[in-house]
Amino acid sequence: MSKMLEEKICAVDFCEGAGVAELAQQNFCVKHFIELCYENLQRIDPRGQQLGRIPLDMASLRGFVEECSRRALDVALRCESLDNLQRGRLLDILLWAGELFLLLRAPNRGFADSVLHEHDPLLARLAARHF
Ligand SMILES: [Zn+2]
Repeated sequence: MSKMLEEKICAVDFCEGAGVAELAQQNFCVKHFIELCYENLQRIDPRGQQLGRIPLDMASLRGFVEECSRRALDVALRCESLDNLQRGRLLDILLWAGELFLLLRAPNRGFADSVLHEHDPLLARLAARHF
């Protein structure tokens, strides 16, 4: 009974790796945890956004970034079977998540620009000239 509770298997289809890291209420093996983190961090990094906007709300993004870094640290400290490459990647995820957390805290330039746009004095002057 307790054995069943302890043995977690990676949530990715066809992967039989031990689920050592939990993300969004699912368990993943180290390899898939790292892949998922990279994929998601890449997607929410405002520097990679074409339109300079983040489509999701900031609070849930920050929540995810926070979870990501907490789990990465957890895996790095607890998992004894990590190789150097995996350790390096977990550290990379940690640093990236920390960086993103700061970026998401401050309003990014794209957002500030779109807000300022309406009150741009030059635009206002140009508009005034037309009427
Ligand atoms: Zn897996």
